[in-house]
Amino acid sequence: MERLKQARTASKPVMIVNPKEAEKAEKGKPKGEKTWTFHAENVRDFAFASSRKFIWDAMGVDIAGKNILCMSFYPKEGNPLWEQYSTEVVAHTIRTYSKFTIPYQYPVAISVHTNRIGMEYPMICFNGGRPEEDGTYSEGTKYGMLGVIIHEVGHNFFPMIINSDERQWTWMDEGLNTFVQYLTEVEWDPNYPSRRGNPTKIVDYMKGDPGNISPIMTNSESIFQFGNNAYGKPATALNILRETILGRELFDFAFKTYAERWAYKHPTPADFFRTMEDASGVDLDWFWRGWFYTTDPVDISIDEVVQYHIDSKDPDKELAFDRAQNEAQPAFLGEQINSKTITSPVIKQKPELQDFYNNWDRYEPTSYDRDQYKKMLDGLTDEEREVLGYDWKYYQMKFTNKGGLPMPIILEFIFEDGSKERHYIPAEIWKMDDVQVSKVFYSKKELKEVILDPNTQTADVDRSDNYWPAKTPQSRFELYKYRGRYSRGDALNPMQKAKE
Ligand SMILES: [Zn+2]
Repeated sequence: MERLKQARTASKPVMIVNPKEAEKAEKGKPKGEKTWTFHAENVRDFAFASSRKFIWDAMGVDIAGKNILCMSFYPKEGNPLWEQYSTEVVAHTIRTYSKFTIPYQYPVAISVHTNRIGMEYPMICFNGGRPEEDGTYSEGTKYGMLGVIIHEVGHNFFPMIINSDERQWTWMDEGLNTFVQYLTEVEWDPNYPSRRGNPTKIVDYMKGDPGNISPIMTNSESIFQFGNNAYGKPATALNILRETILGRELFDFAFKTYAERWAYKHPTPADFFRTMEDASGVDLDWFWRGWFYTTDPVDISIDEVVQYHIDSKDPDKELAFDRAQNEAQPAFLGEQINSKTITSPVIKQKPELQDFYNNWDRYEPTSYDRDQYKKMLDGLTDEEREVLGYDWKYYQMKFTNKGGLPMPIILEFIFEDGSKERHYIPAEIWKMDDVQVSKVFYSKKELKEVILDPNTQTADVDRSDNYWPAKTPQSRFELYKYRGRYSRGDALNPMQKAKE
């Protein structure tokens, strides 16, 4: 009891039952009977755990004026991972979720060790993450454990308090929870190797076989690929809504409003969609429709870039342009051969058959042309003349929505002088034509390169058509299969190898 009291204000976990005491308890066998009576408010389910092997640590966290006791229970087999991370992660989770949703509602938050599963209950959850016997562990074991603790503790918010129907709409608790899990992971460590959240992580699923994908809105019991459908894709959709569509300020306010409005109530999908729209003030019907009701992926291509200039009507300038255009045309093969084989055409044999047009240069301005041009200029106002003289380059770009899911068109221009420019065209550009659109940009500079979605923020499933000029994708193929094990996958435990 003394240790528990001390834990409430401690800045790091305090041992309530330390490893030595747990090891001693493990050897004995209890006699007789003990009765525990549990009481809790606002719970929709319950679980408990008991073991004489348990090591127990605790740390208090202040949330909105209340001291919440974060605790972990684990056998010695969970160490060294558990004593180092579990309670710290519980505390970080309730702090971060409280910031993005509503303050943590229960008096305690408990993480109990298991070998590999993860399961949530009000206030208590069961989390995998067990090191090897020599105390080393793979990267997958470490981040799998941190991730599952964040996730299962996170369920105290969705669906324990913001009480959606899991059997109908798995995404309403798992998807929203996985989204806030991602925010919590990156606040733990910006380099956290999150499995879900970053748009590029959902690409393989979204470009997959359409017969193997179902819309997010599918009833829980009929979903294909549960994890991708109900966890990964909604988490990514919300991340994209936050970073790419609404921006963090609007999104965070709307998301928090949803949690505040629907705490202790039973929200349905429409309640979530409506709150996100009216709290942000943005019409997002197209977004819900595309991401939640269809299986369309995002795949926008940049089809062409055509450069224009204003027709100045100046014969000296425009005829030179025509000449250059003509000279840039490749010569037809037949003409190339003719120039060698037809050595004596009729007009050479009989020069009297030549006239003005045999020697006329159609790209050479005449005094008549220049006269006409001058007359035209005289008829213009000063302002019209100024506009006509603009020395801008106009770039008309065409885009196709190959995937079907509308997204903003985000462009990076790289100019010949090395400078860069960003353009953000909202998804509403697809309102009138959701297959192909074009847009004109202007600049004084010569355009060298265009990159569509330069910061991988839309989950575009095929980036090979995101470049102008086109880029050749780079890959590799194998000559021989490695004999013996050589893989850098999750199974590898470099920590163990380093020890050897
Ligand atoms: Zn879950």
